[in-house]
Order: sequence, then structure tokens, then C-alpha cells
Amino acid sequence: MKNIIKTTAIILCFIAQSIQAQDNKIDPKKTEDWGRKPAEVIPGKNNAAPSDALVLFNGKNLDNWVKAGTTEPAGWKVKGKTVTVVPKAGAIETKQHFGDCQLHIEWRSPKQDVKAGKKGQGNGNSGIFLMGRYEVQVLNSYNNETYYNGMASSIYKQHIPLVNPAVAAGKWQSYDIIFTAPRFNADKSLKSPAYATVIFNGVIVQNHVEIQGPTVYRGKPSYSFHEAKAPIKLQDHSNEVSYRNIWIREL
Ligand code: MG
Repeated sequence: MKNIIKTTAIILCFIAQSIQAQDNKIDPKKTEDWGRKPAEVIPGKNNAAPSDALVLFNGKNLDNWVKAGTTEPAGWKVKGKTVTVVPKAGAIETKQHFGDCQLHIEWRSPKQDVKAGKKGQGNGNSGIFLMGRYEVQVLNSYNNETYYNGMASSIYKQHIPLVNPAVAAGKWQSYDIIFTAPRFNADKSLKSPAYATVIFNGVIVQNHVEIQGPTVYRGKPSYSFHEAKAPIKLQDHSNEVSYRNIWIREL
């Protein structure tokens, strides 16, 4: 028995060595890909937009935005390089439409909601709606309990963040979102769902999660056909949440 094992081991060792010897004869150039040279991009310093990004909010005006669903000017307040929700002014959305993208956005929930004793979903609530439909939640999630699939950086009512890197209300926080738009067939049925990856204050909280349809408040989400590109919408949830340094790269 011992001899059989020994002989088998020797044979296997010999086979492995000859495969290795054959591999060593393969020209390494055969697996070098010279097909597509990646474009050169100058990275931004301190989260500033890289050279190929489109700046959606430059800290000065809302020229790239409208009141959602209209062609009217966006009625939020711009001051000191930030834009702040004006409660009841309504959501705002980009004039330009986007599909697959990388979005950088910084936000701040107001201290005044904490001071006023606002709780749960009523404390520093806003949201970033990709394609106007798929919400990455914005909420004060520092010492503010709510349902976990509704906290900051959740895909609202669909995906709980992996961890909670939120800092206190009144401090700036960042999201870097990598979004894959859903695809639809010619008959308008769903071909492939949307996916999102979210990095919250430098920490990954959503790792290529599958979005089940528009993020709805009531009931279960389900897809219905929409165009390949749509605006990015910021939510007015009656809390004075601020945003700054918003830029996007189409993928
Ligand atoms: Mg919200």
C-alpha cells in the first residue's frame, strides 16, 4: 500500500514538473493586451473633481439643476460653497441625464434637527436618487435610531449598509457611488437590474448590491421600463440638509 502511494506521488510530481516546463515555453508577450490605452486623467486633490469629471455643483450656483419634474429654477439656497434644502421648495434634479456613473457628493445633516429633538427618519433626511428613482439614503445616522434599511447609505428599504461610518450631524460626510443602470429589452421587460456600490466617508458600505426596483416607501419594489439615462435627483424631506462638491463621471 505504502509503495502504491509513493509511486503515485512520484508520478504526480513528474506530471506537475512537465506542465511547468511547458508553461515556461509560452511566450509571455502572447498574454499582453495592447488593445485599448486607458485615457489619462488628472486626479483631484482633497476630493476635488478629476480632470474628466463633470462638476454638477460648483459652490456658486444651481445652473445645472432644475426643480424636479419641471424646467423651473431649483429653489434651494446657495451660500458659502454649499447648497441647502429649502423645505417645501421640492426636490431638485440635474438638467443632464445619466446612466452608468461614478458620483461624488458631500452632505451635512443639520445640528438644528438634533437640538429640536427630531427622531428617526425626521432627523436630517434627504436622499440621492440615481436616475430619479433609486435612493441612496441621506439621514443623520449618528445616535439616531431608525430601521436599518433606512439609515444613511442604505439603498432605501432594500439594502442595509455593511457598517455605519456616520459622523455627527453638523459635520460634512461623503458618498462615492458607483452605479450601473438597469437594462431593458426591446419589449420593455427587464434585461438586467441596477447595481450600486457605495463608499461612505471612505468606508465601503454597499458592495455591488442588486437594486430590486425603484426605492419605494410602501410595498415591494418592482421595475418598470425607463429611458437609458435620467436625471440625478436630490430629495426635499423638509430637513435643511446641505450638499457641496458634487461631481460625476459617466462610465
Ligand atoms: Mg430620504
